Amino acid sequence: MTESSSFQPVLDRIAEEIAAAPARGRPADYIPVLAEADPSRFGMAVAELDGTVYGVGDWRRPFSAQSITKVFTLALVLSMEGEALWRNVGREPSGNPFNSLVQLEYENGIPRNPFINAGALVVTDRLQSLTGDAAGCLLDFLRAESGNPELAFDETVAASEAGHGDRNAALAHFMASYGNISGPVPGLLAQYFRQCSVEASCADLASAAGFLARHGIRADGTTLLTRSQAKQINAVMLTCGTYDAAGDFAYRVGLPGKSGVGGGIIAVVPGRCTLCVWSPGLDARGNSVAGVDALDRFTTLTGLSVF
Ligand code: GLN
Repeated sequence: MTESSSFQPVLDRIAEEIAAAPARGRPADYIPVLAEADPSRFGMAVAELDGTVYGVGDWRRPFSAQSITKVFTLALVLSMEGEALWRNVGREPSGNPFNSLVQLEYENGIPRNPFINAGALVVTDRLQSLTGDAAGCLLDFLRAESGNPELAFDETVAASEAGHGDRNAALAHFMASYGNISGPVPGLLAQYFRQCSVEASCADLASAAGFLARHGIRADGTTLLTRSQAKQINAVMLTCGTYDAAGDFAYRVGLPGKSGVGGGIIAVVPGRCTLCVWSPGLDARGNSVAGVDALDRFTTLTGLSVF
C-alpha cells in the first residue's frame, strides 16, 4: 500500500473476515470479573504517526488493558534510569507461561524479561521507588499520550485480581527473598493490580503506543526515549511480548507486539503506525485468538512488517 492511503478499507475487510471466522477462544477466568467478557466482541484501531486513528468494530469500547500496561511501565522506567534496570530483569524470552515461577529459582530471582509477570513486578517496583506512585504515573502517561483524559482504573477488576492474586504474591515474595524487590510486597501488589486494571479502548492504546513507532518521541513532540531505547523496547516486545507464543506471533504477524489477558494486543510498525486489536477470547497461552488472527491478516494484506 502507498504511504498516503487510508487504513480504513483494510480494517473493514479484516473485520468482515474475522466475523466469518468462528474460532474465538475463552475469556480469562482466573481473574473472575474478566470471565464475564463477551468473546464475540472485536475491535481494531490503527494510529498513524501524526495521531490520525482509523478503527473498526468495538474500537472505541474500553476493555481491561492488563499486561499491555507492561510496555508503558517499562518505557517510563527506562526513560528515568536507563540501563540500570537491566541489573534487575533480563531480556530473553522465557519459553514459559506469563505467570510461571519455575525459572526464578534457577536464575536467582532475576526474571527473564519485563513482560512476564515476575519481570513486570520488578519494573513496577522500580517505578514505585522512582515516583512514589507507579500506577498514577502510568495513568498520567496514558492519558497524555492517548489524548483521553478520562482513562481510569477499574477498581472492581483490581479488587477481583487482588482477591485471586496468590500467584503474583508468590512471585513478588520470592523475588523479595533474593533482594530483587525494594519496597514492601503488599504495596507493590496493590500498585501492580491497579496498573493492570486500566480500562482503555483500541483507539486509546494504539495512540498511546505511538512513541514506539515515532522512535521515542511523545505525542507532544518531546523525547521520552532515545531512538536506541525505542528500538530496544520493540525488540523485547517482538521476542517476549506474547510469552511462550512469541515465536509463533513473530512468525504469523512479524511485528513487535504485547498482549494482555483482557484480550487486547498492541503492535508496532516502527516509523509507520501502531495498532491495537481487542477480542476477549484467549488461546491456551493467554493471547487473543481473533486478535492474533486480525494482526496476521493486517500484515499479510498490507505487507507492513519489520521483516
Ligand atoms: N493482571 C494479570 C496478571 O498479573 C496480567 C496478565 C496478563 O495480562 N498476561 O496475571
